[in-house]
Amino acid sequence: MTTLKLKIVGSGGMSIIPSSFCKCKICEEAREKGGRYERLGPSLYIDDIKMLIDTPEDIAVACNRQKISEVNHISISHSDPDHVKGIRIVEKIGYDFIKEKSMPIHFYALPEVIKDINNMNCDCLKYYSDVLGCISINETSHMSIDNIDIDMINNNTDRNITFYLIKQNEKKVIYACCNPKPFQHNEAYFDADVFIISLVSDNGILNDGTKLEYAPFKDEIFTLNEIIEMKNYYRIKKVVVTHIDEIWGKSYGYYKELEKKLDNILFAYDGMDIIV
Ligand SMILES: [Zn+2]
Ligand SMILES: [Zn+2]
Repeated sequence: MTTLKLKIVGSGGMSIIPSSFCKCKICEEAREKGGRYERLGPSLYIDDIKMLIDTPEDIAVACNRQKISEVNHISISHSDPDHVKGIRIVEKIGYDFIKEKSMPIHFYALPEVIKDINNMNCDCLKYYSDVLGCISINETSHMSIDNIDIDMINNNTDRNITFYLIKQNEKKVIYACCNPKPFQHNEAYFDADVFIISLVSDNGILNDGTKLEYAPFKDEIFTLNEIIEMKNYYRIKKVVVTHIDEIWGKSYGYYKELEKKLDNILFAYDGMDIIV
């Protein structure tokens, strides 16, 4: 029986932990303890096909840390900086500057996401494909590589946020890597083995003591109760919460204790293996 092997390359959110210059208790604890207390930007690696989903600005460092030495495919979920700004790794993977030779790496995204990324980042994808030749762009909503099928679903057509439905034989994993709310129902989510979901505030108290309900982004964040409801409704075997922002104000140690009280709801850390 083959296994599907995924790795959380980075479990952080909009800002890394410790966040530069920040003196909050979460960042200070991360500086002191290191390891799983630190979080780099949000990214997932599908080991079976050497695919990276999302390139936050620290992805090159994150790949070194997690000993990821081969990337053959890249996809980006949406145009926000915390998922795009590390796209420069394709220069190293897809171009030999000494021999001036391109070795284009496969790049996949929804057509509307490719357009957004180019608009917001000085046509960077056009540059990498047409000038440097280090990526070959596939505008698509489906990828089939070896024995893995991936559907890319636009969960929010106002902001063009891709969810990934990763399938291998009977196994099914969903990667909802950013802005999952408003959440679009999809029949395909039923009976998933793992639902990896972002932007969840467990107790609604933010890093500075503010209640989530008073924060400007309150409508974009799931509560833990909503996640439990979703898990039950879709009969999800395991939920992994990722994109853990510094503004939630919770440490790795806190989540480790919290997950003991929950039924198959885990909190990601950098380097976490998800084997299905
Ligand atoms: Zn901080
Ligand atoms: Zn994000």
